[in-house]
Amino acid sequence: MVKLEERKELTKDRPVEIAPLPRQAYIHLAQHTGKSATPCVKTADTVLTGQCIGLSEAAVSSAIHSSISGRVLSIRDYLHPILGYAKAVIIESDGQDTKEKLEPRSQKEIEKLGPEEIRKLVQKAGIVGLGGAAFPTHIKLNPPRPIDTLIINGAECEPYLTSDYRLMVEKTKEIILGIDLVLRCINAKYVYIAIEDNKPEAIKAFKGEVKNLKFKIQILKSFYPQGGEKQLIKNILDKEVPSGKLPFDIGVVVHNVATIYAIYEAVYKNKPLYERIVTVTGSCLENPKNLLVRIGTPIKDLINACGPLVKTPYKIVMGGPMMGIAQCSQDIPIIKATNGIILLSEEEARIYEEQVCIRCGACVRNCPIGLMPCIIDAASRKQDWKLAAAYGALDCIECGLCSYVCPANRWLVEAIKLAKQMQRK
Ligand code: SF4
Ligand code: SF4
Repeated sequence: MVKLEERKELTKDRPVEIAPLPRQAYIHLAQHTGKSATPCVKTADTVLTGQCIGLSEAAVSSAIHSSISGRVLSIRDYLHPILGYAKAVIIESDGQDTKEKLEPRSQKEIEKLGPEEIRKLVQKAGIVGLGGAAFPTHIKLNPPRPIDTLIINGAECEPYLTSDYRLMVEKTKEIILGIDLVLRCINAKYVYIAIEDNKPEAIKAFKGEVKNLKFKIQILKSFYPQGGEKQLIKNILDKEVPSGKLPFDIGVVVHNVATIYAIYEAVYKNKPLYERIVTVTGSCLENPKNLLVRIGTPIKDLINACGPLVKTPYKIVMGGPMMGIAQCSQDIPIIKATNGIILLSEEEARIYEEQVCIRCGACVRNCPIGLMPCIIDAASRKQDWKLAAAYGALDCIECGLCSYVCPANRWLVEAIKLAKQMQRK
């Protein structure tokens, strides 16, 4: 793990602001791991904020909800931040933001809910992992084997991003209530709330609010990639997730803090997941911010909300600078897994020419999973997918550290990602 320049000072002290409603929302039906949702509305239908617009019967999938009220303009292929193009429900706002009538639950009603009822509410609300993986949360609330330990991931180790940090500072009580709901589903004995030591306000907030003796606030050194599931488990529990296995195979479940907050909102407020906090930042913006953004809002609307531009953005990244994905258009919309939009200047985003590998071993020494990125890279370039697999390409968490430390500027992650894709075909 390495210490990166944080650049969090741009937004860390900026409380969450509500982003303006988009005039049009482009709501993708594929925003999660698993099968895309099937639209349950049609062109010209009127919809309310929070209304379900996409459903799926598949075992691994998630519901999709409208993030604004208005009229369905079309359902068609549209720019997608990860997939290139994918089916989206395009909704024109009526400017009213009329919400579907869903009554908040009383404390008494919540106390009576059993694990299965909580899972169903989470499924109905379309909640997926908001730390980036977008795995449907109701499935993680129903693990196939007993769970010993629940880890709440508040590490947020990527530079620039502060959306989880602001959530932890501003919604501490609600996150604790959300953790209690998860515990009722998975019955873990131990709970760790993992926060890096560069977030003292969040640590203080949790220390002041946590009353349950089962909960331990685990302060971690701020290193990258501290927030990866496998790194958290290793650093907190000194346990390793075996190759090809998942955390629940060793009795552990990890949830991101933003996911926990969404669970709280779904159960207590009866609110589907149609908005999230996004850090909009970078040296090109005069007013970088943490914004509460409706899903489906185009990037350009967020840039306008944080403008004016002080430099021309050379590269726009969705997510953090290490694991995020460069975007080709400002018309691309926010999806559930979007935690940040970073506008980088030409100087910051310069792409250096690749050189031959000098066998320095820096990529091997720094890989948090213990892989040999230089070998997988070589195998991938020779299209020897079997060799790449034999060297553990599928275990790569795509943290980007090997590329970051490589003095020869090798495009290691890209080559490894390709090897992973080819093996899954
Ligand atoms: S090989 Fe994968 S896990 Fe290892 S440093 Fe590179 S991107 Fe990270
Ligand atoms: S860090 Fe770069 S130059 Fe060094 S061994 Fe790895 S790929 Fe080769």
